[in-house]
Parts: sequence; structure tokens; C-alpha cells
Amino acid sequence: MLKDKVALVTGGGRGIGRETCILLAKQGAKVAAFSRNESELKETVNYIREELGEDAIYIIGDVCSEEDIKRAVKETRESLGSIDILVNNAGAMLLKPFNNTTVEEWDFLQNVNVRGPFLFSKEVVPEMIEKRNGVIINISSIWGTKGGPDRSAYIASKYAVIGFTKALGEELKPYNIRVNSVCPGPVVTKMTEDLGENINKESWLQPIDIANVIVDLCSPKMKALTAATIEAFGSGRPVNL
Ligand code: NAP
Repeated sequence: MLKDKVALVTGGGRGIGRETCILLAKQGAKVAAFSRNESELKETVNYIREELGEDAIYIIGDVCSEEDIKRAVKETRESLGSIDILVNNAGAMLLKPFNNTTVEEWDFLQNVNVRGPFLFSKEVVPEMIEKRNGVIINISSIWGTKGGPDRSAYIASKYAVIGFTKALGEELKPYNIRVNSVCPGPVVTKMTEDLGENINKESWLQPIDIANVIVDLCSPKMKALTAATIEAFGSGRPVNL
């Protein structure tokens, strides 16, 4: 389905990002995985190369660093080719009452969750415009669609991801570039492992469930979908909702 497409996935070392990298490779895409953790990235990329026999690279970097992002896009182009699919998945969460949220924590969350996707998009969009082809998927959250206590910085950032997606999706329609956001419900990953005891995660989603949505959205069959917000909530209830 995605034979020889080149995909860059941020946060590709673990959780939803890793499953997305693997599924993209299973569909024939060449994958670049980006995050700060080399051993996790290596695991993702080794699996793709050794178990699936597909082409994959990893790039160590921070989505807060414009320099790292420019380098990641350049290295991907040089090693795999021009980027067709960008998945802005890397994210940070903060579970804290509003009164205890510091300015630094607020800025950090907006940097990782909103500025990161902005910077990555900025690097790949010019070439996608030239090719008149491209797919960008931004990972928001169920917390990008409703309010709740103890997450003001996270919720603000995930609403912003949806706003950014709608704006960019509309702007890039003339160039055949589709931009959509996926809003996962609760998923069992490292991000949600420390939410406290007594949380029943039986009905929560697994990373592969969200990867399935992301990768299906990358298919050319989905040409009707752009500037859309896909609510992939499953049946699990997030904490505090
Ligand atoms: P995860 O297992 O904690 O994975 C997050 C990934 O993002 C890791 O690979 C992490 O790698 C990377 N990352 C974080 N900060 C980064 C930075 N500054 N620079 C580069 N990479 C960075 O979490 P996940 O649950 O798979 O989350 C993936 C996305 O889904 C996030 O955007 C999250 O907000 C969203 N989401 C998750 C849930 C859920 O219930 N799990 C629900 C809704 C939405 P390093 O830390 O090693 O860099």
C-alpha cells in the first residue's frame, strides 16, 4: 500500500510511534524514526531491518531543537529519499493542577507538543508542495477535544495541535497535501504508566490500535480526508474524566 514511500515518525522509539514505524514498514514504506533515546530507536529500526527486511534509519534528536529537526530531515532525504509522510507523534504530558504549573512547564509542553510539529512541518512542506503530494499526521489526544482537571498545559497544547492541523490542512489542499490529526483515547504506554495505582486499564487501547488508524490515514485511498480530526477513543475512560 505504501511501497517505497518515505516516512518520518517522531517519537518512533517506543509506544504509539514505534508501532507506527513498524506498521508503515510492513506496508512497504522506508522509515526514519526520531527521538532522544538511542537504544529505543535502535530496537525499532533493528526490528524493521532484521524481521521485516525493510529499509529504516534512526536519528537522535529533540523536537525542541530546530537544528536537530533540520538535520533529521536532511539525513532522511539523503539516506531514504524525499519525505512523503510525516507523523508528528512525539509528545510530553504533565499531570498537575493549574496552580502548581510553572511557566517553564507550560512552555516546555507547548514546545514539544506544538512547536515541534510546526518545525517539522516547516522543513518538509516546501518539498511536498513541489511534488504536489504529501501526508502529515499530527497526534493530538482525547484531551484535545474536551476539558478536564490537572492538565491545563497538556490540554491547551493538544487543542493547539488540532487547530494547527485544520489550518495547515486547508492551506495545503491546493497542493494535494493531506494534513489530519488523530486523537487517541487512553493507550497503555510509558506516558500513562505512572498515573497512579487502582486504575483499571483493561479497556484501554494498545499502541497498535492507534498505529492502525495512523497508517490507514496515510493510504492514498484516504484522499477524501484532510484537515480532519479523527477521534480514536476506543472504549477506555481516561483518568479524571
Ligand atoms: P510514550 O510511550 O511516552 O512515547 C513518546 C515518544 O515521544 C517517545 O519516543 C519519546 O522519546 C518521544 N519524545 C518525547 N519528547 C521528545 C522530544 N523532546 N524530542 C524527541 N522525541 C520526544 O508515549 P505515547 O503514549 O506513545 O505518546 C505518543 C503520542 O500520543 C503523544 O503525542 C501523546 O501525547 C499522544 N497520546 C497518548 C495517549 C496515551 O494514552 N498514551 C493518549 C492520547 C494521546 P524520548 O523521550 O526518548 O525522546
